[in-house]
Amino acid sequence: MTDRKVRGRFAPSPTGPLHFGSLVAAVGSYLSARSQGGEWLVRMEDLDPPREAKGAADDILRTLEAYGFEWDGEILYQSRRRDAYEAALDVLRQQGALYACGCTRKEIADSSVHGVEGPVYPGTCRAGLAAGRSARALRVRTDNAVIDFEDRVQGRQCAQLEREIGDFVVRRADGFHAYQLAVVVDDAEQGITEIVRGADLLTSTPRQIYLQRLLGLPPPGYLHLPAALNVQGEKLSKQTRAEPLARSEPVPVLWQALAFLGQRPPPEWRSATRADFWAAAAVRWSEACIPRQSGIVLPDSVVKNNILEQGE
Ligand code: GLU
Repeated sequence: MTDRKVRGRFAPSPTGPLHFGSLVAAVGSYLSARSQGGEWLVRMEDLDPPREAKGAADDILRTLEAYGFEWDGEILYQSRRRDAYEAALDVLRQQGALYACGCTRKEIADSSVHGVEGPVYPGTCRAGLAAGRSARALRVRTDNAVIDFEDRVQGRQCAQLEREIGDFVVRRADGFHAYQLAVVVDDAEQGITEIVRGADLLTSTPRQIYLQRLLGLPPPGYLHLPAALNVQGEKLSKQTRAEPLARSEPVPVLWQALAFLGQRPPPEWRSATRADFWAAAAVRWSEACIPRQSGIVLPDSVVKNNILEQGE
């Protein structure tokens, strides 16, 4: 990569309030960028209204402020970017990489093998819609060329999209653009040079690299942090009822996020001011100390957000 100025980002989906798992991604992306003298942007990934919770976007921003995150520039809202996504679809269409698919979810589930992320699309509509079928989603054609990349935490990753994922959706049957497309278009629009996020998104990255190549967009670096898991081994999320982050005492929670990321923060930092905490954390940040794991189980006290009850 050229020596572009480092620019990271945090890209929450407003499906609910921030929880400890999302905080880890925010802290990791923020400190990675800031420790290199880079910029850090926030993008609201509000492109899926059926999954969104009313007021969640503002609630997330208020929480980020309460935790002392300072972002550069304007917040980009994906809900306002439909024209840019359509323009990207046009580029794919001109290359013959796009096709309309008439399959329902059930048909796909019934006729396919299981891949790294659910059913592999069997390519039913690749050669055109069968008579009497109407277009639902738009898919991008994949192949079995190996897509490999070096993740700065998880190491070398390889994927073959056609075999592992199949031709994937870039515009859904309900007309909304797919995350995989939007994220690629917007990371390029915002000039992002490094993507720091949870390892639950590691299997999405080859699709994103594939789209970047088709669209002629610059490749960012990747750093997938261990995902925060509850004692059942599930990723903290709205579905697994992760507790919302409290705004009242951010520093001990930030301390816990740093500890989760292997940074060994000194105990006295828990009672530091927010500003002192951030300044010290950026100086101490070490990418090499991040555990090379895709997930780490958290004690219930952290999951339940009772961090202050934990003795040192
Ligand atoms: N919006 C996605 C999420 O909240 C993150 C996307 C990304 O970081 O690429 O899971």
